[in-house]
Amino acid sequence: MSAAAAEASLRRRAPTLDVAVVGGGMVGAAAALALARAGFSTALLEVREPAAWSADDEVDLRVVGLAPSSLALLDDLGVWMSIRDARAGPYAHMHVWDAESGAAIDFDAASEGRDLLGYIVENNLVQWTLWQALEAAGVSRLCPAEVKGFEAHGDRIQLELADGEILTAGLLVAADGAASPLRQLAGIGTRGRDYAQRAVVAHVRTERPHENTAWQRFLPSGPLALLPLADDRSSLVWSLPEAEARRVLALDDQAFLDELGIASDFRLGRIIDSTRRAAFPLKLQLAERYQADRFVLLGDAAHAVHPLAGQGVNLGLRDVTELRDTLVAARAAGRDIGAAHVLRRYARRRRSADTLDALGFDALARIYAWQSPALVAARGLGVRLLDHLAPLKRRISEHAAGL
Ligand SMILES: Cc1cc2nc3c(=O)[nH]c(=O)nc-3n(C[C@H](O)[C@H](O)[C@H](O)COP(=O)(O)OP(=O)(O)OC[C@H]3O[C@@H](n4cnc5c(N)ncnc54)[C@H](O)[C@@H]3O)c2cc1C
Repeated sequence: MSAAAAEASLRRRAPTLDVAVVGGGMVGAAAALALARAGFSTALLEVREPAAWSADDEVDLRVVGLAPSSLALLDDLGVWMSIRDARAGPYAHMHVWDAESGAAIDFDAASEGRDLLGYIVENNLVQWTLWQALEAAGVSRLCPAEVKGFEAHGDRIQLELADGEILTAGLLVAADGAASPLRQLAGIGTRGRDYAQRAVVAHVRTERPHENTAWQRFLPSGPLALLPLADDRSSLVWSLPEAEARRVLALDDQAFLDELGIASDFRLGRIIDSTRRAAFPLKLQLAERYQADRFVLLGDAAHAVHPLAGQGVNLGLRDVTELRDTLVAARAAGRDIGAAHVLRRYARRRRSADTLDALGFDALARIYAWQSPALVAARGLGVRLLDHLAPLKRRISEHAAGL
């Protein structure tokens, strides 16, 4: 059979989709659902079946703070109420303080005319709930499926899977995480820096209640956050230099509780008990472009940021909203949804917004790492001033909320 005949035969066998989304984490699953709900024929390809979530299971160690923009998207997709009712920790206040200067800043939902600042939820609850909604929305789920290569030809892009199957789509969306094999296959480089830090995570019970407040203390070694869970515990995200993180992971239980009490300034009293601990490496990574031929990046595949602002997945879900709106507008105008000029609009808008945010979080990490007394004093002055500048504080809070 000639090469042309072989390709024609493969294309006859392969379904032609509007969009193939690769990576079924929170961002990819939300993208597949959003695009299918908008009327695009969509497939979601994922290497690993997500673990089923159950209310009887211990709270997953990986949690995220979902901002109002993310809640709005999940609500629009019809999944937010299920997530909220399953297990979600609302928070209405945020208290951030500097271990060195003592300066503090408070954010309060009520003083901004809102009920809440956000919710702390388990990653696998969000992912699982999205996956449950995919079938009814008409998304073809291919799992396990691994993309080995892809190539754009005219009005379509052809994906080659590890099992030899071929899929064709008008657009390939890569939401395959920070290590993104697809970004590498597309030849898109990244910029950023390795923080040489790990975030040690655990869920802890404290002597005093969390008061539905996200607490964050900036220490010279990195930020320590205690985020309010749906029960009376808090989720710890403690960013530490690599060697310190390894040491803290290896401490015996009582020594860990004692050190954490000191590091958290006993703000919630003594730390009474803790789940097992885990650690995640931290880096700043921005893709040099978000777009290639019939190909776009979104979520951590496009940007990985320091967790100090709790914004990683919120940026990813804003990518989803922008991509969906861009493709819907292109279709309404009779345009090809995979055309370069259509994708450019998505790529330009999201890359500039994500870059500004990522560099802002990076600047905060750098400023809070200052240790010379003069710089610490200047930082303390700046934070105290900001805490009294209600309009500016409100703008920062609204920006974080994605409003
Ligand atoms: C300690 C810590 C705390 C955090 N706290 C917050 C927070 O409070 N708020 C917040 O917004 N964010 C937070 N984040 C960031 C957030 O967790 C991430 O931004 C988010 O999980 C990224 O989701 P994603 O779907 O883009 O990527 P991922 O969750 O990495 O999903 C990628 C998926 O792609 C699949 N995949 C990979 N390669 C292939 C392939 N070749 N073919 C098919 N599938 C493939 C993978 O199996 C995976 O399921 C935190 C991160 C850390 C480390």
